[in-house]
Amino acid sequence: MQITEIYKSIQGESTYAGLPCVFVRLTGCNLRCSWCDSEFSFYGGRKMSSEDVMAEIERSSPAPGLVEITGGEPMLQEKEVVPIMERLLAAGYTVLLETSGERPLSRVPKSVVKIVDVKCPHSGEPDTFAMENLGSLNSHDEVKFVLSDRIDYEFARDFVAQHRLAERVHAVLFSPAFRKDATGARDASHCLLDPRQLADWILADNVPARLSLQIHKFVWDPAAKGV
Ligand code: SF4
Repeated sequence: MQITEIYKSIQGESTYAGLPCVFVRLTGCNLRCSWCDSEFSFYGGRKMSSEDVMAEIERSSPAPGLVEITGGEPMLQEKEVVPIMERLLAAGYTVLLETSGERPLSRVPKSVVKIVDVKCPHSGEPDTFAMENLGSLNSHDEVKFVLSDRIDYEFARDFVAQHRLAERVHAVLFSPAFRKDATGARDASHCLLDPRQLADWILADNVPARLSLQIHKFVWDPAAKGV
């Protein structure tokens, strides 16, 4: 398996936000979102066996605890990553999978909490969500829309209503996109869409979504890696 980094930090953007978590960042992505903050994971990394990955996670934080499989796009390495998720579950971890929603998710173990993106029009990767993945969503899963403007918001609002997403999953997350070159101040000035504006829209339209901020970018420098 090709791995960019394994590190322990605070989970930043889901209903698990704020909890200690070991992140396993897999190398490679087939999308190129305009606001991507993980471009460093597109290439490089190191080859690791499943045993090495398990050992590093256990050294960092023994079970039980939270492990997030992320990327890049982890499901590009499905053959290796599915067995790792099964091993982590068997060891007693709660496992989160952060995925773009473009790859099929039917073979992800049921107990894994999937945090699935639906890419909006101005992400640079619209229409990449695999609609059949709606059928793979479980009631503990979460669906995330990263929004950079009103057009993205209206797309997300309408998608949530059309597919009755709030009834299918544990949480629908609306997250303002962050400037990918953000550095320095740890505040909302780096958001492409003002969170206050987004809050007003959610309230005005009674959208059953959770306003989600990437809290690690308010705790550490937004440019910091490995946090
Ligand atoms: S899917 Fe994720 S890792 Fe890939 S380009 Fe988009 S934001 Fe970056």
